[in-house]
Amino acid sequence: MGGLSEDLSSTTLHLDSDNNQRVYFVPYRWWKDAHDSLTGDADGERGLPFLASPGSSYAGPMKIINNIFNSDLVFNLKREEDSSQNSENGEVGISGRDYALVSGEMWVQALKWHIDSKSSTRNGGSFSVAEDNIADVYPLQLRLSIQREANLLGVRISKKDNVVELFRRACKIFNIESELLRIWDFSGQTISFFSNSNMQRQSDQEVLLELQVYGLSDFIKCKEGKKDELANSILGNSCGTSLAMNGASGTGSSGCFFVNSSVFSGSSREAGSLGLTGLQNLGNTCFMNSSLQCLVHTPKLVDYFLGDYDKEINYDNPLGMNGEIALAFGDLLRKLWAPGASPVAPRTFKSKLARFAPQFSGFNQHDSQELLAFLLDGLHEDLNRVKKKPYVEAKDGDGRPDNDIADEYWQNHLARSDSIIVDVCQGQYKSTLVCPVCKKVSTTFDPFMYLSLPLPSTTMRTMTLTVVNTDGSTPTPYTITVPKSGKWEDLIKALSIKCSLREDETLLVAEVYNYRIIRYLEEPADSLSLIRDGDRLVAYRLAKDDEQVPLVVFMHQRIEEQYINGKHSTIPKAFGFPLLAKLPSAFNGSDIQDIYKKLLSPFQVSTQHALEENHTSDIDTIEKTREEENGTNSPSACVIDPLRSEDGVSSPSDADFQFYTTDEKGTIKGSEIQVDESLVGSEKSKRLYVLVSWPEKQIERYDTRLLTSLPEVFKSSFFTKRPQESVSLYKCLEGFLQEEPLGPEDMWFCPSCKKHCQASKKLDLWRLPEILVIHLKRFSYSRFLKNKLETYVDFPVDDLDLSMYVAYKNDQTCTRYVLYAISNHYGSMGGGHYTAFVHQGGDQWYDFDDSHVNPIGLDKIKSSAAYVLFYRRVVA
Ligand SMILES: [Zn+2]
Repeated sequence: MGGLSEDLSSTTLHLDSDNNQRVYFVPYRWWKDAHDSLTGDADGERGLPFLASPGSSYAGPMKIINNIFNSDLVFNLKREEDSSQNSENGEVGISGRDYALVSGEMWVQALKWHIDSKSSTRNGGSFSVAEDNIADVYPLQLRLSIQREANLLGVRISKKDNVVELFRRACKIFNIESELLRIWDFSGQTISFFSNSNMQRQSDQEVLLELQVYGLSDFIKCKEGKKDELANSILGNSCGTSLAMNGASGTGSSGCFFVNSSVFSGSSREAGSLGLTGLQNLGNTCFMNSSLQCLVHTPKLVDYFLGDYDKEINYDNPLGMNGEIALAFGDLLRKLWAPGASPVAPRTFKSKLARFAPQFSGFNQHDSQELLAFLLDGLHEDLNRVKKKPYVEAKDGDGRPDNDIADEYWQNHLARSDSIIVDVCQGQYKSTLVCPVCKKVSTTFDPFMYLSLPLPSTTMRTMTLTVVNTDGSTPTPYTITVPKSGKWEDLIKALSIKCSLREDETLLVAEVYNYRIIRYLEEPADSLSLIRDGDRLVAYRLAKDDEQVPLVVFMHQRIEEQYINGKHSTIPKAFGFPLLAKLPSAFNGSDIQDIYKKLLSPFQVSTQHALEENHTSDIDTIEKTREEENGTNSPSACVIDPLRSEDGVSSPSDADFQFYTTDEKGTIKGSEIQVDESLVGSEKSKRLYVLVSWPEKQIERYDTRLLTSLPEVFKSSFFTKRPQESVSLYKCLEGFLQEEPLGPEDMWFCPSCKKHCQASKKLDLWRLPEILVIHLKRFSYSRFLKNKLETYVDFPVDDLDLSMYVAYKNDQTCTRYVLYAISNHYGSMGGGHYTAFVHQGGDQWYDFDDSHVNPIGLDKIKSSAAYVLFYRRVVA
């Protein structure tokens, strides 16, 4: 739309500004009621009547539908020359299908009158209608081009800039299916056109008349002459898209001029324009405000609740809420759409919610999607047109085509559930279960109101564990991906592959906290949800033995010097993660030392190999040294360690490690283990805990950072997470539709095998709704913690095409969608903040942040905060 305005702006020739206001296309009676009451003049001002009829080349509705993709729609507006038939009695010939063209000023007056009279009968409240605010109102806009052939106006509706849905609206507006439609021009615009055209009759000009259309969609449904209904449908359509009607006859556009100046000028709109009303935060109610703003900007729902929806309220539905939720929502929606409204405090709605859904009460933060689900369901039941639900038995679909079965399911569903929510938001999916034993296939076609899509990371989880070898190689962190709902054995399997575990090896995984092992993870059936992202896990790579061999667990301790009040003292301080090895059947203190030094070998500072004493028998070190020597061609370049000469010289005893027996916590210091002390079978327990005290000299010889740095299972930082966790919406959808086995707690009763089995389940989209709500499952709940995924989901804004994902191919319905609202969640779960982005009018997005409503750039709407997406179908 903006593009169109720009294109034409250069050729725009504004008429004199005094009476070229915006023109409003309104129900005639709506205007007349207000006008008569305000002026006491039953005749009103004389309008110029026109009769609308389908253009000659478009004979009837079928023709129009056929032509939707090929050409423009043409209507003829024929000026009724004999207007005297109406002048005697203002009511003559005025039906519910009559419309009026009024100026902006007339429209504002009539709107004020209707709102005042309505609010005085409803709740006594009144709206302050500020004309400044209304100036930006843009419900539905029509551009009419007027073809000058005497009194005949050819009105052409171009499909080009047009959501096709509005085509149908246009057809309805011009009522081409039935009798002639009469349109009265009270604005004087067409009159001024005729007078203008008289002056410039020679030139082949056309006029683009831009209209604000108000209160039509529901009006159409009204029976003729029902005054109350007409008055009730004053507040019109929300759909900010435009119907552009191009010039007639294909003549040059050089001479075209506009009656109206551009409405979508791109100028900043003040908050307070229709529908751009904030909701006050009543204490952690942003989750509610976010969902509400998305719903109250859902095109069909706006029409519906601005209309006389109350006649559809089902007060007797035991599943409903006596209509109270529907009424509270409807009232709120009307307040938000009232012209000039200031931010609304949704207190009534909140109290109704607290009554019917206590889970949302209080002042805690809740989930906007849970509220949405509750609300859609509640509105549906409150507005269910089915007063008495028939009992419907699900029939087996054996042998019949899917189409028939699906339709039968749908009809059965509609027989029990029929409401605006079903009309607009409900689709149908196909669910196929296959028995793993007898291969029995069961197909059902269930309705849905929204799709809950898993984010890929909600099904899989990346975990980092540090594999520590006992063969002298450096500890290495490995990152693996495992099913989030997986078991311990899944992790071991993935890790074994990743670290190339040999047949004769096994992994013992332990959680390390505070320099000690706080638990061993040994139970294969344990759930992986027991592991938190912040845990630090070490996988010890051990030789596989048939029998249970006792283990030795080394914990490390260094002496730190302290000066307190000038007094020198030393305190032991634990450091590093424990090292672990298998024990031989018989061993003494010397063996313990050897084992420990071998385990430490990877941490040696490389230039000090030679400092190692002979009896450490560090094969690895010797090999490394040999490699260095062999790899050097020039003897002069040999690395000659001057300390090598100290080989064989025993270190002073105070410079060597000291070993003490201890408990599993490493807190007590038992007796020192002597070199020749025999420890054979001294302990019955599976594990021998040894505390190693490091002298300062040893600390210099080892790179203790390697021993100290242990990565977390999953580090959620901005840098590590964002790039890898970007995923397209289609991928999420594929994850949702992917065939997968049911969980063990979700078994299926196979009618053939007559027992429960873990069937595989496959979902397919079958029938798509007009409004498609997509919930991204960012929050995961487990027994121990709640987690939020910050995954950036790349979702289409203008063209979500689901044709690939719909099992039932039907040429009649379009599978393309455009985004019109987003519920966002920022921050962590339980806390955080919700907002809504809403596409409103023309091509502008707005940020609804509680009471604040601000325009937002298109480039800003896609973020990792997007939580619930609202799409509407492009109607073919
Ligand atoms: Zn079976």
